Amino acid sequence: MAAYALGEDCPFCRIVRRELAAAIVHEDEETLALLDLHPATRGHTLVLPKRHVEDIFSMPEELGVELMATAVKVARTLNERLGLVGLNLVQANGAPAGQTIFHFHLHLVPRYDGDSVVLRFGHGSKAAEMGELQRLAALLRGEAPRA
Ligand SMILES: [Zn+2]
Repeated sequence: MAAYALGEDCPFCRIVRRELAAAIVHEDEETLALLDLHPATRGHTLVLPKRHVEDIFSMPEELGVELMATAVKVARTLNERLGLVGLNLVQANGAPAGQTIFHFHLHLVPRYDGDSVVLRFGHGSKAAEMGELQRLAALLRGEAPRA
């Protein structure tokens, strides 16, 4: 999909190797948190694995745990130091979902009174039917044949 699938020219891999400048907020053995170059709001931070993992589908579960631990730490820091009133976690997998850099990254978007951020998840759509939700949950638990 992406020309840098092997990690050679991936901008996040280049940041990890210190070949590109970044404003780094947190770093540990497996994860890096840096300020987004095109912030949606003040303090908009990206949390990513230092090794090249394209998306959540190819993410080792243990690394996902490390990434969320970093996200929790960074979210607390943002909350304590920036005077935000809320915070969104946003993460895209695949171009149709809006992924543009194919190295997993989790957005932490601080929210402020009067900011211009808009997130939409079909609010106002009609409630799902519980029987249908139960059938879908059974499929996802592996208790029903694939649709
Ligand atoms: Zn990469």
